[in-house]
Amino acid sequence: MRALQLFGAGDLRLTDIPKPEIGPDEVLLKTKAVSICGTDVRMWQNGYEGVDESHPLTLGHEFAGVIAQVGSGVPFYQEGMHIALQPNIGCGICGRCVSGRQHLCDDYVAFGINMPGAFAEYVKIPAAAVTRGNMMVVAPQVPFHEASIAEPLSCVYNGFSKCFVVPGEYAMVVGAGPIGLMHAMLLTMAGAIVMMNDVQPDRLALCREILPNIATYSGNDLKGFVMEQTKGKGLDVAITACPVPQVQSAMLDLMNYGGRINFFGGIPSNKQPVPIDTNLVHYRELYLTGSTRSSIMQFRKAMSFVEQKLVDISGVITHTYPLGQVMEAFGNAKAAVGLKHAIIFD
Ligand SMILES: [Zn+2]
Ligand SMILES: [Zn+2]
Repeated sequence: MRALQLFGAGDLRLTDIPKPEIGPDEVLLKTKAVSICGTDVRMWQNGYEGVDESHPLTLGHEFAGVIAQVGSGVPFYQEGMHIALQPNIGCGICGRCVSGRQHLCDDYVAFGINMPGAFAEYVKIPAAAVTRGNMMVVAPQVPFHEASIAEPLSCVYNGFSKCFVVPGEYAMVVGAGPIGLMHAMLLTMAGAIVMMNDVQPDRLALCREILPNIATYSGNDLKGFVMEQTKGKGLDVAITACPVPQVQSAMLDLMNYGGRINFFGGIPSNKQPVPIDTNLVHYRELYLTGSTRSSIMQFRKAMSFVEQKLVDISGVITHTYPLGQVMEAFGNAKAAVGLKHAIIFD
């Protein structure tokens, strides 16, 4: 079968590898859609621990497909079911796994990160992923490429849940990429008055096409904009969906009393530590939160929003390609053309 494999920094190749064979407790998934994440682009650019010429890795952790084969010992799952995958498999034993936070497990493994992923015609789903709930059955009417981005949507939902937004609150998302847009979608769904900020006006324009009710700003006086929009109150909720330290520092002074900030995007470690005015946290009683990845339950919740059309993510994927054009897709994702790029299989 064809698969996109990483051999080292800058070395991504579409190769031919054997179709996986499954054991009695495993499932074979025929991939129908896999989308490109910023993590995939970074792994391509920088290489990844343990990956080299003799240990290539098939990338792809945002995916959906159809069950092609089920091992004799597999419960519940059947051939032909449409499946979306939560890619993080916890050990199942530690306190964090037992409390439903598998994504924070010290020993977690993930499709396309440290085990074979889904830029391939088939993916073997190991026994641990089958029995720990990583496979979610998706209603047949949900397009596969939409199901494939339930994963990033679930990470967004994790950050969103930390902010306890209520209807009528003022919320701002900084960063108008696919992640920022999905944050704006969930905040809109929750009844917030949503603003977006980015240095690139064309990305904001794209977000406004999809969410006409949001206010956007790309100028130099973000505080002036926020105060005008919030009638001098400041933000109740702020989400930073960009890797810029200055943005994290600047958000605190834009907040209303009791405001909640989620640092969604990580900052490269060579730009740490980030200076924060802790007196703003103190006197305004702010809540600073962080989030990374998502739990299986958050994944199922996010997927159910899509299934029930509570949120319309159809506009997030702006470009689709067949597997043969996957390098073009990666090039466009790296160049930040449009929003999300997905590979669709026959
Ligand atoms: Zn991702
Ligand atoms: Zn664990």
